[in-house]
Amino acid sequence: MAGRHFLQIPGPTPVPDRLQRAMHRQMEDHRSSAFPAFARRILSRLPQVVHQTKGEAFVFPAPGSAMWEAALVNTVNPGARLLAPRFGQFSHLFIQTARNLGYRVDVLEEPWGEAADPARIEAALAADTAHEIQGVLLVHNETATGVTCDVAAVRAAMDRAKHPALLLVDGVSSIASLDFRFDDWRVDCAITGSQKGFMLPAGLGILYMSETALARVEGCTMPRAYFDLKAMRANNAQGYFPSTPALSLLYGLDEALTMLLDEGMDNVAARHKRLATGVRAAVKAWGLRECAKRPEIASNSLTAIVVPEGVDARTVIDIAFNRYDIALGSGLSEVAGKVFRIGHLGDMNALTLAGALAGVEMALVDAGIQITLGSGVGAALQQWRMPS
Ligand code: PLP
Repeated sequence: MAGRHFLQIPGPTPVPDRLQRAMHRQMEDHRSSAFPAFARRILSRLPQVVHQTKGEAFVFPAPGSAMWEAALVNTVNPGARLLAPRFGQFSHLFIQTARNLGYRVDVLEEPWGEAADPARIEAALAADTAHEIQGVLLVHNETATGVTCDVAAVRAAMDRAKHPALLLVDGVSSIASLDFRFDDWRVDCAITGSQKGFMLPAGLGILYMSETALARVEGCTMPRAYFDLKAMRANNAQGYFPSTPALSLLYGLDEALTMLLDEGMDNVAARHKRLATGVRAAVKAWGLRECAKRPEIASNSLTAIVVPEGVDARTVIDIAFNRYDIALGSGLSEVAGKVFRIGHLGDMNALTLAGALAGVEMALVDAGIQITLGSGVGAALQQWRMPS
């Protein structure tokens, strides 16, 4: 099709030209004496994205989900108990990963479309008087339902319970797009991938570790090989990596860090909030409902929209893709066929998103959903215009 494709899924997100150019280069010797300056430029700036001043950040050639494993196997001993709220497909997969590694996970079930409940986490931790639970697994932004959890409130709940468990946070669809306060929330491990807020292709897993989490690495008895942070730390300290790094992606990450930090992380978060406000206004104008059950937990990086009874959301997605050249996110697992998702994170501005909303409107009407063409776009533009 002529014109540009709209990649409007919540990751991978469009890769800006500037990042594509940064990655388009010849390979080089990753053991050369010139390499450490480059590696250190990346490793020293990664923490700024999450307002981290203590601890360390690590980069692996790996998808985001591999970082669930990396965080766990470096900090939690074999067979230990963990606590995790489950409220969508990614919190489910985080739990599954932990269980596959042999951990015992106490699951707090929440309805999909809800967020993690700090009060229930506090009660579960308070009941664990022997302090068997070694970690709380929390998905900050549940990409399946478009719901953001209050990490600060979860940390406060852990404090009230006076529980020493580590706080392990999945920030795959929040880090580098939503406000993420690693130090203030006293997060112990935070994980993400390169293909969302960092605006890169998939392939880099990023792991942030607090000083508390790092102190566990040496004594942690969980068997591990590729994800062993001991080897990674020793190499990083010299400006190298233990295995051949994904060089092209690292060049992209270097440039992405420049883009993000030049914009300023507070401005990045504010931009995402502003864009999300317009999308939510559009959903309201269409007379549709969000999967997020309460406005205060609705995500600023994506919106999951529930289609009316009798309509299969997959039809809307197919029409959008085949007729209007726009890719929308599908509903996953429990909400398959019931929701479609609009990603609005990464290299995104109001005009791009206005075009995307126009594509969604045409697909909705073609799928037989009664909305007025232009209503959502108009409502969004009202949010986005900047009168002097
Ligand atoms: N966690 C969340 C919240 C996600 O949205 C995703 C992917 O969309 C993942 C984990 C898994 O990341 P990856 O597909 O890079 O393994």
